[in-house]
Amino acid sequence: QAKDAGRGTWRAYGREMDQRLHERLRREEELRVAIAEQQLEVHYQPRYLSQSMQIIGAEALVRWHHPTQGMLLPEQFIPLAEEAGLIIPLGRWVLHQACQQAASWPVEMTVSVNLSPLQLHDDRLLDEIARALRENGLPGERLELEVTESALLQETQSTLDALKRIKALGVHLAVDDFGTGYSSLTNLRHYPFDVIKIDNSFVAGIEQSTEDHSIVRALIELGRGLQMRVTAEGVETEEQLRLLTDDGCTEVQGFHMSLPMPAEELRRLLARPTDIS
Ligand code: C2E
Ligand code: MG
Ligand code: MG
Ligand code: MG
Repeated sequence: QAKDAGRGTWRAYGREMDQRLHERLRREEELRVAIAEQQLEVHYQPRYLSQSMQIIGAEALVRWHHPTQGMLLPEQFIPLAEEAGLIIPLGRWVLHQACQQAASWPVEMTVSVNLSPLQLHDDRLLDEIARALRENGLPGERLELEVTESALLQETQSTLDALKRIKALGVHLAVDDFGTGYSSLTNLRHYPFDVIKIDNSFVAGIEQSTEDHSIVRALIELGRGLQMRVTAEGVETEEQLRLLTDDGCTEVQGFHMSLPMPAEELRRLLARPTDIS
């Protein structure tokens, strides 16, 4: 009977939902344990001056050494962390790690930390930043916080207030994945950003696509006009590096120069005599 078949389908569907929910809760629990038991690790990707190839900073990028699945990348667990409210303890842990590492580098350069929009709207964020700086003896100027352009779209006023309070600690601010969030350029003018980070997706296209190249050039101009520094992300080839440098993009980051690496490896790289300037 059609009715029974329908019910059967519904039951199967219900079971599938149960399984999905169960899987999600299991994953959440795993992540909770991962944060508590230090299965997370922060890798660092250097940022370079495009003219001299001098390293001027590094971005903290979190990884999860999953007990059975190996190393997981942020896109495989950050969304879950955000949904489960775990992004607050996770983000706090990354912030402290990054400040601790940066304080131990042989050169005084900036460490960049990605902030989830949820952290930005968390009341305790400001205290956490101040504490991470104080406990590690890191001056505010050596910390940069990255906020994605899309995060600027919601709750404009409270976002602006949060950014201004962070800025008052001397911390630098970067707008990340710029060009993908459709934020209003009028608003950007009011935000206290020091740096614009041009999204990978545009940089990837500059050799083949005149449109992408035009967008990148316009973003570089925009940054200059707003007196913000501009970093191109996702630089993968020598030709991209050359085009960006010619277009006046002063800072670059990407696989062509360096992959994200464990803290120890970055420290060795920084300690090499040729990199001390
Ligand atoms: P993002 O902040 O835009 O970071 C840059 C991403 O591009 C990193 O991916 C980096 O490994 C990758 N990348 C660097 N150079 C190249 C390149 O030449 N080509 C390509 N195709 N990719 C390149 P990753 O580490 O997988 O991180 C992805 C995103 O996850 C980050 O994007 C950031 O939004 C988020 N994320 C990472 N760590 C954290 C964290 O601690 N907290 C929060 N809230 N988000 C994080
Ligand atoms: Mg970033
Ligand atoms: Mg980015
Ligand atoms: Mg990104």
